[in-house]
Amino acid sequence: MKLFTIGPVQMYERTLEIRSQRIPYFRTAKFSRMVHETDLILKEMIGTDQKSKTIYLTASGTAAMEAAVTNCFSSCDKLLIVNGGTFGERFVQIARHHKIPYEVIKLPFGEVLSEQHLCNYLGKGISGVLVNLDETSTGQLYDVSIIRSFCKKENALLVVDAISTFLCDEYHMDDYGIDMSIISSQKGLCISPGLSMIILGKKALQKYSENQQYTSYYFSYEQYLRDVERGQTPFTPAIGTLMELYDILTYVKQKGLGTHLEEIAAKANHFRSRMKGLHTHLYIPSYPLSNAITPVILKKANATQLIATLSEEYEMMVNPTGGEMGNQMIRVAHIGALMAKDYDDLADAMCNVLSKEQV
Ligand SMILES: *Cc1c(COP(=O)(O)O)cnc(C)c1O
Repeated sequence: MKLFTIGPVQMYERTLEIRSQRIPYFRTAKFSRMVHETDLILKEMIGTDQKSKTIYLTASGTAAMEAAVTNCFSSCDKLLIVNGGTFGERFVQIARHHKIPYEVIKLPFGEVLSEQHLCNYLGKGISGVLVNLDETSTGQLYDVSIIRSFCKKENALLVVDAISTFLCDEYHMDDYGIDMSIISSQKGLCISPGLSMIILGKKALQKYSENQQYTSYYFSYEQYLRDVERGQTPFTPAIGTLMELYDILTYVKQKGLGTHLEEIAAKANHFRSRMKGLHTHLYIPSYPLSNAITPVILKKANATQLIATLSEEYEMMVNPTGGEMGNQMIRVAHIGALMAKDYDDLADAMCNVLSKEQV
């Protein structure tokens, strides 16, 4: 089965090799050195100062979203959440669950986030903005500059869920004015699930230290911040996934981040141009897209049916879509160990299914 899905992805052979190794004991100087080196490259790649701090959580991305929100905000804050799909909605649910006051920019499917949306919230006492820069459920890549300028005017903390944009699109945390970045192992990093990282810039560290309300023992930043100084985590981490992380980061660094991003963009563009040939059956939405994933809207066919046929008859797994677009839209990822030829095969398979079988 070939995975055209965004998490987990079609992993690289080198990652599979690491996965097959014995898990070492981790309270050792050698393991600490690996974590330190990983951390150095991670900060370099995400575009932040080495003085920023990383929280290494053994948990899925949602836990990192929750930890980011609860460690830095409380009932004294007011959040602004960009909700343009299922991951934006998740931030809303987290804020609601923890009784942190919030406002929501609810984007209907297909609408592009603009300055206008943010303007309505100027002078409303917003102290933090939460945004999934690539809203993976639609593939819309938001314009970070408009969010940044809002945060600057309001002196609000900018918290970015970069889970599916980091290592897929250009991302420069400090240059973009991002105070806290959230990433997770199974998406852009292309490794196993289990590990999520929160990278805190200076302003986020300050906001965290002023926040008096801790709501969790396991997810409180305190012990993580202390232990990361010596290349450790307070609790047993996903050791194997951390080893994969070290490997993938050194690999991308050797190859060059620019080259890596160009390869992904080339795969995305190739697939998108192949889809133009199928315009009688489908189209790609017109909003700005991340290179991570291509949303494809079917004009007549049923998406669930197409996904099942591709999987059963062609051994190709593409992403379904949650929510209102579920029956109409499939999503195809462009990361991991897939080549242009794989996208040709997928386009051919889609053409076969859509024209012959009329699913
Ligand atoms: C995948 C994803 C998450 C986290 O999902 P988990 O299943 O908890 O790992 C969060 N935000 C975005 C944008 C994602 O793509």
